[in-house]
Amino acid sequence: MTYKDIDINHGQKCGVNDVICYRKDNIAYLNITNQCTLHCSFCPKLNKNWVVHGHHLKLSRQASTSRILLALGDPRRYKEVVFSGLGEPTLNLSVLIEVAKAIHGRTRVRLITDGLGNLVQGMDITPLLAGKIDAISISLNAQQESVYNQLCQPPQTGTFPALLDFIQAAKKNNVGDVCLTAIDGLKDVDIADCQNIANNYGVDFRRRIIGECV
Ligand code: SF4
Repeated sequence: MTYKDIDINHGQKCGVNDVICYRKDNIAYLNITNQCTLHCSFCPKLNKNWVVHGHHLKLSRQASTSRILLALGDPRRYKEVVFSGLGEPTLNLSVLIEVAKAIHGRTRVRLITDGLGNLVQGMDITPLLAGKIDAISISLNAQQESVYNQLCQPPQTGTFPALLDFIQAAKKNNVGDVCLTAIDGLKDVDIADCQNIANNYGVDFRRRIIGECV
């Protein structure tokens, strides 16, 4: 399998019982796709566990713009709205952009991403996100390619360099505040080295704990 084999749908209507928005600490999290670019060894869904903070996040289909906006309600009620998962939001790109555009300016909008959107979509998506996203959290996950490949199990080579290119593109094209993240405690992950990578790119870094909302 390569990234070309990933079926990128564009927001069909999802099931009525699907949890596409959940709230925690005055933050709304949007679950707009279950599709993933990676097969992270630490991901709960690979163990068939779809429950995050008490919410079962398995979707019957990708979420549509209208259903997401309906589920979210007035974005001004939240201090932040976060595109999260359980899946990679940029795999539902047109819907992500439409929703971000609709709510931007009425709350802080943040995207959590694996940073592989440019590689998978075959184009630089960061200009499309600029002006609609206030902050972007990019899952760096590891300080070097061998550790990344072991943890995230990308389907093709060249993924880690593409992730590093995405960080630069996000910064250059002003996709809001850029923050890299890595999970502390995973085998062979060196948090200090991950922090150094962020420092070298001139972006923020956040050490994560597994299982937390980010
Ligand atoms: S990118 Fe996120 S949702 Fe996808 S497999 Fe990795 S941890 Fe799981």
